[in-house]
Amino acid sequence: MAPTRPAILVVDDVPSNVQVLSRILKDEYDIYFATDGSRALELVESRVPDLVLLDIMMPGMDGYEVCRRIKTNPATRDIPVIFVSARGEVEDETRGLEAGAIDFITKPMSPPIVKARVRNHILLKRQADTLRQLSFLDGLTGIANRRRFDEVLESEWRRCARSRAPLSAIMIDVDHFKTFNDLCGHHAGDVCLRAIARTLAGQVHRPGDLMARYGGEEFVCLLPETDAEGAARVAEALRAAVEAAAIPHPDSPAAPCVTVSLGHATLVPEPGRSPGRLLALADEYLYAAKKAGRNRSAGGTG
Ligand code: GH3
Ligand code: MG
Ligand code: MG
Repeated sequence: MAPTRPAILVVDDVPSNVQVLSRILKDEYDIYFATDGSRALELVESRVPDLVLLDIMMPGMDGYEVCRRIKTNPATRDIPVIFVSARGEVEDETRGLEAGAIDFITKPMSPPIVKARVRNHILLKRQADTLRQLSFLDGLTGIANRRRFDEVLESEWRRCARSRAPLSAIMIDVDHFKTFNDLCGHHAGDVCLRAIARTLAGQVHRPGDLMARYGGEEFVCLLPETDAEGAARVAEALRAAVEAAAIPHPDSPAAPCVTVSLGHATLVPEPGRSPGRLLALADEYLYAAKKAGRNRSAGGTG
């Protein structure tokens, strides 16, 4: 697949200014435009660009305000904004940078300078995107990490609270993993955790579902808009998939292969309450599954 071309949103109330920028940049980028601030704010959310080139003087909402709003919305705040303006006074530039812009280009524009600045900022933006994505991944297994999980849990908790939908979580813990490590070595333990992560992640399919490594030999699965019955079904599928992977365990009282125990919990989030209760409940059921003999799941609704 060919790499996608970076997209640039040009915001200017004068169509000829849009055309000038478009002519300079269209060979390297996908250009689209808005001729007023509110339309620009709609577009940055519906068709997220890699960069915004923003005019200051516009009827209605001016560029400073558009920039401030882009920068305060969590969904758009990482998009770099460059002001393009004939107002090149020190205070204009200062105001623009204070509103959150990354750079300032003064009109009349020099095409090579516009190209070079845009190229630099897009490169930085893409590097920042890559780093952000990496910061969400667990280094050993390559699936989502705890940081990512906590972030998604917060937002799904709020989303399900608004829609009065159930939210389920499954805590998963490898059975007798200390013995596995002691007898097979730490390297084999790491290889085993990778295989388990791959197996678990391969079992969750819905767009909102998330499988993450919670830490050590513990994994956690988040299932938005899923009731207790659905969570029980997924938990059993996860358990069966790990058993079916048939990774030999040298000395497990639970089975001849590596197994997991799971605790699932389902709540309809109440607005204003924290999601900690959901995980605590899943943890309680995990403990019950361990006590009942491991290689099994337990769960409920609190
Ligand atoms: P239980 O069935 O009660 O869960 O027993 P367990 O032995 O799995 O539980 P315990 O919490 O005592 O041991 C967890 C072990 O998991 C400790 C450590 O050896 C291993 N472990 C945790 N993180 C890693 C890791 O990143 N790599 C490897 N190789 N082992 C890990
Ligand atoms: Mg553990
Ligand atoms: Mg364990």
